[in-house]
Amino acid sequence: MAQPVRISEISLYLRCPRLLYFQAMGRRVHPEVETPKNILMREVALSLSEIGPEEGEDLGEWLREALERALVEVPAIYRERINPHDLQAAAEEVAAWAAEVAPKIQVSLREINPSTVEVELRSDRLGLSGRVDRVVSRGAEDGSNHLRIPSILRVDLPPEAGVWRSDRLRLAGYSMLLEEELEARVDRGLVEYLRSGEVREVEIRPTDRRRVLRIRDRVRSIREGKLPDRPREAPCERCPVLESCETRQTLASKFF
Ligand code: SF4
Repeated sequence: MAQPVRISEISLYLRCPRLLYFQAMGRRVHPEVETPKNILMREVALSLSEIGPEEGEDLGEWLREALERALVEVPAIYRERINPHDLQAAAEEVAAWAAEVAPKIQVSLREINPSTVEVELRSDRLGLSGRVDRVVSRGAEDGSNHLRIPSILRVDLPPEAGVWRSDRLRLAGYSMLLEEELEARVDRGLVEYLRSGEVREVEIRPTDRRRVLRIRDRVRSIREGKLPDRPREAPCERCPVLESCETRQTLASKFF
């Protein structure tokens, strides 16, 4: 049976289908995402799931402690990918970020907790898999109307309203996977925009589910070696595979 398509591959496809092609060939296609600052912000944000109902009153202090823990743990988690000096340099910026967003996060805490982090999901029937950042539990304490919804972390700023299209599609993918796991409908999801400390909730639409399944089919054919067209809006400027991509373009135009 073919390996399920990861939701991260759907995201990469949305950035540029050709990036997925080069990744399938074993190339590194996204070095800029994992800066020490982004890694630290993400670790601190993930740890918010550990806050119990009685804690979090002084969230600024709690975030400072979470950052100190992350500084000790991140080198062990990302051993080859992170330089300890860069990490220390990023810590100051992350401390300033934490102090700035603490009041907003304080308000959003009840939207993201109780929750479980980094939940691995897989459906052979859908041919999809992925690791969702958080699964949030909602509903009455007696268990009636109990819901679980996916939540994803984004280091970026949010759009003016709603969420970015790629985030909506990622959430649609995770929702379908969560539905398979829980055998229950999942029709909402959250995006946590870390830079601004905002949490935005969206409805999962049928069109988004359908789009994810069509992209899944395209990812499969790219994995089998089909070179996708170069999209007009592709983010080529700082692309790590720009040179190879342009060579392919030249070769293709020679033949056709
Ligand atoms: S150079 Fe542009 S089209 Fe080619 S893979 Fe990179 S982003 Fe995509």
